[in-house]
Amino acid sequence: MTLDLSTPEFLIERNRDRCIDCKVCVNQCANEAHTYDEEEGKVVSDDTKCVNCHRCVALCPTKALSVRKYPLEFRSHGTWNAHYINSIYKQAATGGILLTGMGTDKNYPIYWDHLLLNASQVTNPSIDPLREPMELKTFLGRKPDAVKIENGRLAEKLPPQLELEVPIMFSAMSFGSISLNAHKSLARAAQEMGTFWNTGEGGLHRDLFPYGKNTIVQVASGRFGVHTDYLNSGAAIEIKIGQGAKPGIGGHLPGEKVGREVSLTRMIPQGSDAISPAPHHDIYSIEDLRQLIYSLKEASNYEKPISVKIAAVHNVAAIASGIARAGADIIAIDGFRGGTGATPLRTRDTVGIPIELALAAVDSRLREEGIRNQVSLVIGGSVRNSADIVKAIAIGADAVYIGTSALIALGCHMCQRCYTGKCNWGIATQNPNLVKRLNPDIGAQRAANLVKAWSHEIKELLGGMGINALESLRGNRLMLRGVGISEKELEILGVMHAGE
Ligand code: SF4
Ligand code: SF4
Repeated sequence: MTLDLSTPEFLIERNRDRCIDCKVCVNQCANEAHTYDEEEGKVVSDDTKCVNCHRCVALCPTKALSVRKYPLEFRSHGTWNAHYINSIYKQAATGGILLTGMGTDKNYPIYWDHLLLNASQVTNPSIDPLREPMELKTFLGRKPDAVKIENGRLAEKLPPQLELEVPIMFSAMSFGSISLNAHKSLARAAQEMGTFWNTGEGGLHRDLFPYGKNTIVQVASGRFGVHTDYLNSGAAIEIKIGQGAKPGIGGHLPGEKVGREVSLTRMIPQGSDAISPAPHHDIYSIEDLRQLIYSLKEASNYEKPISVKIAAVHNVAAIASGIARAGADIIAIDGFRGGTGATPLRTRDTVGIPIELALAAVDSRLREEGIRNQVSLVIGGSVRNSADIVKAIAIGADAVYIGTSALIALGCHMCQRCYTGKCNWGIATQNPNLVKRLNPDIGAQRAANLVKAWSHEIKELLGGMGINALESLRGNRLMLRGVGISEKELEILGVMHAGE
């Protein structure tokens, strides 16, 4: 390590008239940005250590603290802004890859914000969801192209389906990348709301097996924690091929995060690095993927839907078509704004494509090929509110995964330093003292409340369009109009411009 010339990102301001030197901030900041100076007899701060997580600001009893952007400006330059200059300073000091957490903070277009929903006027009157039933129930899995009814019942047995009360699931985040209390919060919230949470690639902690009916268990390239009981404990199995925040690369959970519980759950030695290879070493073709899909179906007695999760990349529609033909029941597509616990910054900010375009391309392609019913589509990677969900369903999604939104509900303040393991909110950490900061009962309630609130809003938006069942909106792009985007973007999204 040589001299780091990069400037601090944040400035801690302490109002000396209010500060009572109670040391709450000293105890709350895992980054050690606050210390008590014995000689001076007061608390002092080191701006260079602050990641702007708001923990000390929120908990200071006298509201003496604030954090703002560091005011030091580089001379303004169209090419060389502070981000690029500081990145070079850091890399010149360390010789290492720049790491980050969460989804990209770059200013790429967000197509959700360029899509507007329809509403009923005069004809086809709107529906009041407070007075009339409104159906959000969603089934994920392979559907037949036609159903035969005999004596009022389905004549044939449907392939296995996941039954969701709401079209919202919690996306894959592994135990290791997030804490056990975060996992408990999501599992309990999923159970309360009649939906699903996803283990991510780190296995399922023994305490969470009772939530199996609401759990999707993941099988990733590292195969951490994968065994027969694990596969049979969940309601569905998801093969993770890719992730929106880091398409094309694997994962690395540093040994210091692999404590006893993570090691037992992942079935790896305590303190060893958990490295997920970039590829699955047994998958080099669609035929190989098919073998894994059918091995997992076999291992779970053909009773569970098999999902395949991929990152949204350039030729995502062709890839999805191959996955559907390989026998997957669900395809989960993660857009490039999706979050993660740790990723190289350049990968996060420059690889992949927006989920809105990926979803539209995949749905269109599967329809053109006549195989749309063979798979359900679940999308994730920057679903920020209920309207994003309604728009996603109108483009063609069956359901959505929420990750970052769920963590924000638990208290995440988007500091993007999850990879350090020092999450001051007890979410992206394995430090027992930090983990305790997240009470799983309160976390579960908050995550469930978010899903509940969004479900109410989805019903409102559906009712406004005169639609009383989500199924009637699915793939109904006539309910969308675009604003402020190009002809080409409209063409890919398959929507008309506002005014048409
Ligand atoms: S990192 Fe968080 S707790 Fe620490 S000083 Fe900054 S805002 Fe406060
Ligand atoms: S999970 Fe924690 S470390 Fe990660 S962005 Fe949120 S507050 Fe920061």
